Amino acid sequence: MATTHSFIGVFKYSKRAIELVWQTSRSLALWMGLLTLVAGVLPAAVAYVGKLIVDAVVAAMEAPNASLTDVYTYVAYEAGLVIALSAAQRGLAAAQSLLRARLGQRVNEMILDKAQTLSLAQFEDSEFYDKLTRARREASQRPMALVVKTFGLIQNGISIASFAALLIQFSPWALIILVVGALPGFAAEAKFSGDAFKIFRWRSPDRRMQMYLETVLAREDSIKEVQLFDLGPTLLGRYRTIFHKLFKEERLLTLRREGWGFLLGILSSAAFYAAYGWVVFETATGKLTLGEMTMYLLVFKQGQSAVSAMLTSVSGMYEDNLYLSNLYEYLEQETTHEPGHLTAGVHPGDGIRFENVSFSYPGSQQSALLDINLHLKPGQSLALVGENGSGKTTLIKLMTRLYQPSAGRIYLDGSDLQDWSVPALRERVGVIFQDFVRFQLQVGENIGAGDVGHFTDADRWKTSADKGQASPFIEKLSDGYTTQLGRWFKDGQELSGGQWQKIALSRAFMREGADLLVLDEPTAAMDAQAEADIFAHFQDYAANKMAIVISHRFSTVRYADQIVVMQGGRIMERGDHASLIASDGRYAHLFNLQAAGYR
Ligand code: ADP
Repeated sequence: MATTHSFIGVFKYSKRAIELVWQTSRSLALWMGLLTLVAGVLPAAVAYVGKLIVDAVVAAMEAPNASLTDVYTYVAYEAGLVIALSAAQRGLAAAQSLLRARLGQRVNEMILDKAQTLSLAQFEDSEFYDKLTRARREASQRPMALVVKTFGLIQNGISIASFAALLIQFSPWALIILVVGALPGFAAEAKFSGDAFKIFRWRSPDRRMQMYLETVLAREDSIKEVQLFDLGPTLLGRYRTIFHKLFKEERLLTLRREGWGFLLGILSSAAFYAAYGWVVFETATGKLTLGEMTMYLLVFKQGQSAVSAMLTSVSGMYEDNLYLSNLYEYLEQETTHEPGHLTAGVHPGDGIRFENVSFSYPGSQQSALLDINLHLKPGQSLALVGENGSGKTTLIKLMTRLYQPSAGRIYLDGSDLQDWSVPALRERVGVIFQDFVRFQLQVGENIGAGDVGHFTDADRWKTSADKGQASPFIEKLSDGYTTQLGRWFKDGQELSGGQWQKIALSRAFMREGADLLVLDEPTAAMDAQAEADIFAHFQDYAANKMAIVISHRFSTVRYADQIVVMQGGRIMERGDHASLIASDGRYAHLFNLQAAGYR
């Protein structure tokens, strides 16, 4: 029963793969269907004409004066059929090549499209991420491989059916021998393919580690430390250990698969050759003509190769199927957030409000935020202070709706953040995270990324770069705003950490419509003078907006209207600089510590 089940499992996703082909290109799909039919039927026709030729030759030998026109006509037919067969096979190969390219692109687009609708939490879920990586890695081959194998199976099936139509005239038993002889081989192939996939899937975390190590060992952003700390041999050793572990299982499976394949192959060969002997016997005793014998032998031989071609198709189909099941699991993944539709709040001007907000990351027992209450109005600035891991960035992630609170509510202008329409919300928020993206695009586009409507708007790049203090160094670059950044590309230039931060700041300033500006440690890599300048500008710019700054520099923090000191996910102290100093708590302690360093 289990075998039947896995046997059927081999074909489960073939239907979806064919649907995918149909949606990708109807004309190519139709061509493939037609040519598959032709290529499937023609071998039997060739065998039949072969019989006619031999019988005509034998007849001609027996009647010396007979004309040979019939024989030549049949030979010409056969030549024609063989040419047609070869044309059909070439046509199939061409249709497959074209379809492979289009299908790969289409599946990749589906995967990437879907990725845009997923939440950050889903990306951070390692099991889900694994699904995505697997779907992406093989998108360009697997679906097509399944289609090719499915069509191959159909084609060989048609051949075998047409052979059967000829064979049944000899004896139904011969047919039964052909079919029964092949079954054990199919069952074994289906089982081993299933096992292969189970190993493949089960060891995914190992594979992931291997892929990761490959990246670390061979990428520009990590190679620096790998070489300086001499990590190469150790990491490569780990890479090797994983391979040996995986290889051991793979070797066992391969040996079992091929060993059983050989044994069961003997069984079906024995069946075929028994039938072969039978045909020869019947001919020798005069029950079959020479032409019929030629035809049946050919049919048996080709039947045998059609069966082994089918086995080849089945082999690996299970893996392709499970790839597709993985792909569809990913594509059908629920998108968690329900889209809200508000474009304005019930109390415009109320600003941002946190009410008893708590949050823990998916899969984590610990709360990253606990019972947070906050209120920030337009025209006010808020500074978040606290040691690493105290929850500052998490707070920003909730505020920008990258995550949902586990408890409590966040309001913008009096309406729950969850009820806001995503585009309306995004428009109001300009945020730069400490791990902002360094796009390997032009300098200007790196700034323009802050407002996709003005992505390539050179005037806006310039005004934003002025606000972010980036224009002086950009103008000194070889191609100014159109300088290519990053080492992926020829002549791509690298910037220093501080220069990148100025780019990121300018990016935030692109959002002219935003009234909530968040800077998460934006100036850590800048010199003190640059930071002071930036904040002087920032304060003018943010005059009637809500501004939130995370910084470890108290010279920056002290000017905020409201300072919140966080520890272990809770708010520990709050107030303005003067009151916090006066109350002589944690803030005052940290402030004095840093100030002492400058004295
Ligand atoms: P801060 O910005 O104050 O340095 P974070 O808000 O980044 O701190 O982190 C708060 C806590 O949440 C830390 O304990 C950190 O380990 C945890 N954390 C941060 N990001 C994630 C994440 N993506 N998944 C799980 N835990 C996280």
